[in-house]
Amino acid sequence: MSDTAFKHRVWLECAQCGHRVPYTGPLRACEKCGGQWIDAVYDYDAVRELWPAVLQKRPFDMWRYRELLPLRDDANKVTMGEGGTPLLHATNLGLMLGAPHIYFKDERQGPTGSFKDRQASLAISLMKEQGITEAIVASTGNVAISYSAYSALAGIKMWAFLTSLVPPEKMREVALYGSEVVKVTATYDQTKKVAADFAARKNMFIDRGIRGIAAREAMKTVAFEMAEQLPLLIGEGETPWRAPDWYIQAVSGGMGPVGVWRAYEEMMKLGLVDKMPKLACIQAAGCAPMVNSFKKGLDEAEPVLNPQTLVITIATGSPGPAYSFLSRVIREHGGAFEAVTDEETFRAMHVMAKLDGISMEPAAAAAFAGLFKLLSTGVIKRDEVVVVNCSGHTFPVEKHLLGDEWARTVEVPETPSVSVNEGLLGTLGHLDERVQSIAIVEDDPKARLLLRRILQTRGDYRIFEADDGASGIELARREHPDLILLDLMMPGVDGFGVLEALKSDDETSDIPVIVITAKELTADERARLSGQIEMLMEKGSFTDEELLDEILKRANDPS
Ligand SMILES: *Cc1c(COP(=O)(O)O)cnc(C)c1O
Ligand SMILES: [Zn+2]
Repeated sequence: MSDTAFKHRVWLECAQCGHRVPYTGPLRACEKCGGQWIDAVYDYDAVRELWPAVLQKRPFDMWRYRELLPLRDDANKVTMGEGGTPLLHATNLGLMLGAPHIYFKDERQGPTGSFKDRQASLAISLMKEQGITEAIVASTGNVAISYSAYSALAGIKMWAFLTSLVPPEKMREVALYGSEVVKVTATYDQTKKVAADFAARKNMFIDRGIRGIAAREAMKTVAFEMAEQLPLLIGEGETPWRAPDWYIQAVSGGMGPVGVWRAYEEMMKLGLVDKMPKLACIQAAGCAPMVNSFKKGLDEAEPVLNPQTLVITIATGSPGPAYSFLSRVIREHGGAFEAVTDEETFRAMHVMAKLDGISMEPAAAAAFAGLFKLLSTGVIKRDEVVVVNCSGHTFPVEKHLLGDEWARTVEVPETPSVSVNEGLLGTLGHLDERVQSIAIVEDDPKARLLLRRILQTRGDYRIFEADDGASGIELARREHPDLILLDLMMPGVDGFGVLEALKSDDETSDIPVIVITAKELTADERARLSGQIEMLMEKGSFTDEELLDEILKRANDPS
């Protein structure tokens, strides 16, 4: 069967009454019952037959799943290589949290730096197919940026209505693509109203967000890709593709998780996966209508009229119909709605950058903050397979994130003199001064690397490493570090042995020791440690900040 045979094998189906019509273009409402939630449905039997043969030959981008996208004619495709983003293992984060299967979908790598590029590519393609030349979109930033880029390519004029809370850098980017920027000094929900009024008065096309099929259908591709990528990372299962145990995303309108859920339903129909993931929807505590409404057991979301969060991208007070969909799914299949404070979000943003080199925008970081919370409350188990949507790139690095001391100043004297070099060298020397020394005695190279990484992100530590007990003892005698981080389970001389040797030697008996262990200790073992060490920390139960706080306490004031 050729690809073109699929052209018209798309139907629109009313979620309310099930009425089905062949797809000719987006519909505003069901012609039978007036229902506004309309799904695209496809010829799954044909897709099941076609995909195994053709998918292999297609590039890894979102259009490889085009049989399950509603565009009729490929000639209308507006594309810039969106989708096909890597699924990455959160290596250091996983070590820190004691959770080996945390992956993230790196949606920062889209053409405009957020997962809205998938939505824009399909939405603008559909506009092109409908002959639309001018359109309106309301946005908290990323949709406007993405739609502006794609509409520039398609030759469509875009009017972007933005709440004035959107950072000026984002607004300028929208303008750069040649869109008309309308800044509305109000919340996002009010901005949406203003845009809708404007569209009605001018009789212009307005993007319908979650209510339109473009957004939801496009977001399915995140899930298709994830399902294809997971077996490469965690091994093959019973089915060709795999579903994670959890999909975590920061949500505003909720298009992402709705699309992801729909995609797994389709993959089940196609026999490609054997289970559905649980969805975790994370919101900012100052604007968490879904979380609040779910707690109250409501079927429809109660809007938040006065959002209080710095995470503007997800400051949607009125989540609309996605909530009803998601709350039903989560009630029936498990999953979670969770709120995180801005402080927790900015902390997560910092942690991901420091630990795994991943710099993301606050909205994306909210999903990671949610992950931390759900792991610590036991809702997500540490051995479960988790995919977090890293939904957008750092933009901009907010000043309240780093505090005041994020840069070091090197002052160069104004008048050149013989002493300039000396003065400069003196200052630079000072920069490099290591005030404290810490020895890591740990046999697992990954754990050593993580500890070193955590230590490197704050303070001026000289770091020594030993990869077994015997060389740990030798290192302690030679360097007399200010603090030792000691693992218990090591081949040869184990942590208990190291501790005994250190304590029985006058040279080393005063060095404070923090034991870091993955081992469940017996009462007897605890007794052996008691009085000998400063602190016992269980792997996976502390964050980088907590460890640093302990270290600062001990190493600055070895008493
Ligand atoms: C839009 C957006 C979200 C929220 O997406 P929804 O699924 O529509 O709720 C999260 N993060 C980023 C970066 C976004 O741009
Ligand atoms: Zn209907």
